[in-house]
Order: sequence, then C-alpha cells, then structure tokens
Amino acid sequence: LQIPEIKLNDGNLIPQLGLGVFKVDPGETERIVTDALEVGYRHIDTARIYDNEAETGRALAASGIPRDELFITTKLWNSDQENPVAAFEQSLERLGLDAVDLYLVHWPVPAAGTAVGAWRGLIEIIGSGRARSIGVSNFEIEHLRELLDETGVVPAVNQIELHPLHQRRELREFCAAHGIAIEAWGPLAQGKSDLFERDAITAAAAAHGKSPAQIVLRWHVQHGTIVFPKTTRRERMVENAAIFDFVLSDDEMAAIDALDEQHNFGPDPRTFDVR
Ligand code: NAD
Repeated sequence: LQIPEIKLNDGNLIPQLGLGVFKVDPGETERIVTDALEVGYRHIDTARIYDNEAETGRALAASGIPRDELFITTKLWNSDQENPVAAFEQSLERLGLDAVDLYLVHWPVPAAGTAVGAWRGLIEIIGSGRARSIGVSNFEIEHLRELLDETGVVPAVNQIELHPLHQRRELREFCAAHGIAIEAWGPLAQGKSDLFERDAITAAAAAHGKSPAQIVLRWHVQHGTIVFPKTTRRERMVENAAIFDFVLSDDEMAAIDALDEQHNFGPDPRTFDVR
C-alpha cells in the first residue's frame, strides 16, 4: 500500500491516510488495529478519551513493524488540561511507547480557560523528545490566535470536523496562512448524513468506478487534508485506502466544494465543555 506523506511545519512527515479508532470498542481494538496494519496502514489516531490506547499499543507491539514506520497520534483529554505532562506520561504508558508522533490538545474548552497552559505543557513535552510533533484539535480561529499570541509556538496540525457538508473555509485559510496542516475528523460525516447520495458524489463515483466513500476521501486528499476514516471492517480499510490511483477533475472537485452547508454533526468547539 502506497500512502503519500505530508510535511508538517516542524519538518516531520505524516502519512496522509490513517485509521481513526473513535468509538472502537476496547475489546475489538487490538484486532481492528492489527487488521489495519496488515492491510498496510501505518498511521493510527487515538485519544485518551477513546479508552483504547492500551489495546492499540498491544496491536502495535505484536505487529513487529519497526517503530519508525508507524505514526501514532493521541490526545490530551479536557479534564487533564491542567496536568498535561502527567496525562501524557500515562498515555505513553498505556500505549507502551517511548514517544508518540503527534500529541494534540483535544478541545479548546474556552469555559475552562486552561488551553494555553495545556499548550505550554505540550511545548515542554516536545522539548523532551517524547512527542515528535504537537498540535491541537477543534480549535477555532480565536482559539488559535490565543495560542499564537501567548506562546508564539504554531501547532503542527489542527484536527477539525471537516467533510463536504461542513467545509470550514475561513478556518482552513487561517491554518494555511500559518502553516498549520488540517486533519479532518468525521471525514465521511460519521455516516450520519445522506452525503453518499448527493449527485456530485454519485456522479464522480460512477465516472471513476469508485464508491461514494472513496470519492469523499479523495476530495479531502486533493485539498491536502489528512484523513483517518474509521471502520471496524477490514474490507472497508482496503476500500478507504484505494484512493491514490485516480484523480478528481477540477469540475468534480468544484461540484463537491458546492455541497457545503456549514452543517456540523459534532459539538460546537466554542461551547463544548465535557470534562
Ligand atoms: P468518519 O467520518 O470516519 O465515519 C465513520 C463511519 O463511516 C463508520 O462508522 C462507517 O459507518 C462509515 N464508513 C467508513 N468507511 C466506509 C465506507 N468505505 N463505506 C461506507 N461507509 C463507511 O467518522 P469518525 O470516526 O467520527 O472520524 C474519524 C476519526 O476522526 C475518528 O475515528 C477519530 O480518530 C477522529 N475523531 C476526532 C474527533 C476530535 O474531536 N478530535 C472527533 C471525532 C472523531
């Protein structure tokens, strides 16, 4: 499996496609991550709050794949924003790793007012070499501005809800202007919409002999976005990775760009305050 890499603003490379394990049952995680590694995935996106770091780590260890061929992301949960280093060390312990490739502040939680402090913790962590890259998730422009103003350290990535029905143009432009790579969560709109039945998607699918999911993922990739669609099914892992052997035309891209309804299926980062 050939998966392109994207160069982050710190010089590190990230595989543009991975597997996300949100809502993957801990009891199934080792099998699912093992399947993904066998299929050829090398990038896994987990988080403290997904409660499957240990199971993910077991699959990594059992695979025998050299550590430098893997790209592992985990995230600081909201209740740990005041203790980022301790929380990070516990994540490492559960994963069974000496270092992660990317560590993210999961949500800005503006009501808590602790995101800048958390970010300073991540700056300390990257200084220790135990995270190769650091970034944020669900940060709006105002939350990014605060980090930049207070610390001057630019996140390598911002992981945000992003799909054809919710395209976040202003935020993407702000991130591009600051060299912050975009990771899409819910790249397939979490299977919660009629996205796969939209004409722009079905027409491109018919034209290229690809599935609607492959068209949506290809649209992300052509915008330079990093994706890690979630699936528990091995055949869909294969399907979701088979997106590097065709190209959507400018017209096909424009038709999907026109699907934006600014419709988020997940929480609003300005008010999300689960700790
Ligand atoms: P997703 O858009 O990846 O949708 C997953 C769903 O799409 C699956 O449950 C399945 O129903 C369907 N699907 C997958 N492949 C398919 C295919 N080939 N054909 C048809 N249907 C298919 O949603 P997600 O899991 O929420 O997002 C992906 C990853 O993003 C997560 O696993 C997690 O790693 C990350 N994430 C991060 C945050 C955050 O706050 N940072 C929030 C949600 C998810």
